Amino acid sequence: MRDLIIIGSGPAGLTAAIYAARADLKPLVIEGTQPGGQLTITTEVENFPGFPEGIQGPELMERMRQQAQRFGSEHVFDLVTRVDFSKRPFKVWVGDTKHEAKAVIVSTGASARWLGLESEKRLQGRGVSACATCDGFFFRDMKVAVVGGGDSAVEEATFLTRFAREVVIVHRRNELRASAVMRERASRDPKISFLWDSIPEEIVGDDVVTGMKVRNVKTGAVSTVPFDGVFLAIGHTPNTEVFKGQLDLDEKGYLKVERMTHTNIPGVFGCGDVVDTRYRQAITAAGWGAMAALDAQHWLTEQKN
Ligand code: NAP
Repeated sequence: MRDLIIIGSGPAGLTAAIYAARADLKPLVIEGTQPGGQLTITTEVENFPGFPEGIQGPELMERMRQQAQRFGSEHVFDLVTRVDFSKRPFKVWVGDTKHEAKAVIVSTGASARWLGLESEKRLQGRGVSACATCDGFFFRDMKVAVVGGGDSAVEEATFLTRFAREVVIVHRRNELRASAVMRERASRDPKISFLWDSIPEEIVGDDVVTGMKVRNVKTGAVSTVPFDGVFLAIGHTPNTEVFKGQLDLDEKGYLKVERMTHTNIPGVFGCGDVVDTRYRQAITAAGWGAMAALDAQHWLTEQKN
């Protein structure tokens, strides 16, 4: 049996691993199916302190992993399929393999949200995507839509201008939620335009995307706009499915914590985007990971005394 299992491998999980490994807890990090988390599908990270020139997301995560491994963390590149936190030691399954630990840190992050349209599902991978860095390359000289009005939407749109001829940000209100620097960047870009007050009703296309049916929320008018691709950037859903019935979650599925990192089960801690409904930054997730590791370390020491 181990002292600590860390579930998830974004900035929160890997920072927790650095701290826990340096405290000689020899953590096992179960990285999930997207090792490194959301930053591995971004490009340049410009706001992580210590990198004045910026750093590529995948490289930042690889560096964090190497830093943890240097102090003795172990890593499994697979998905947790079941947990039992009802009694100690806590049990965590990866398929048929059972792992046991005295403490667990949950840092499973969040995943891109979808609109929930039938046509969106049908045309996924045929022009519908939630990852510009993954799929943008396929839209050279084409016209694409990005749905959303936050930082992600602007970031995706800006990235897509490398390939696409025209990028239209389709937003349900008439102003962006994105930060000032991102808003300014988008408004200055000659390839980016906006379709305000518009909600997608249907993604149009038989085999591939040919357009999008949008409803104007102010006038109620429905029109079909031609597009070759549609990128969704409408926020995220916390990855807590596997913890349902085991840990307290809020109404949106976020893991509930008290005193920053403590879940309802003593010895199980939460950090990063899986608990964060407000900040959702790489640096805040990393800081939160450090706090969870310190809290786990203190808790484990208390159990010995
Ligand atoms: P977000 O800030 O929650 O924005 C989601 C956007 O999608 C909002 O504009 C929202 O509209 C819209 N939306 C939500 N549900 C929708 C629906 N069903 N139909 C149509 N539109 C819908 O999410 P995010 O942009 O992914 O950003 C998440 C966090 O990560 C933020 O804290 C952000 O600052 C951060 N982030 C930072 C960077 C960076 O600094 N480089 C990059 C990406 C993300 P409303 O505005 O009307 O609510």
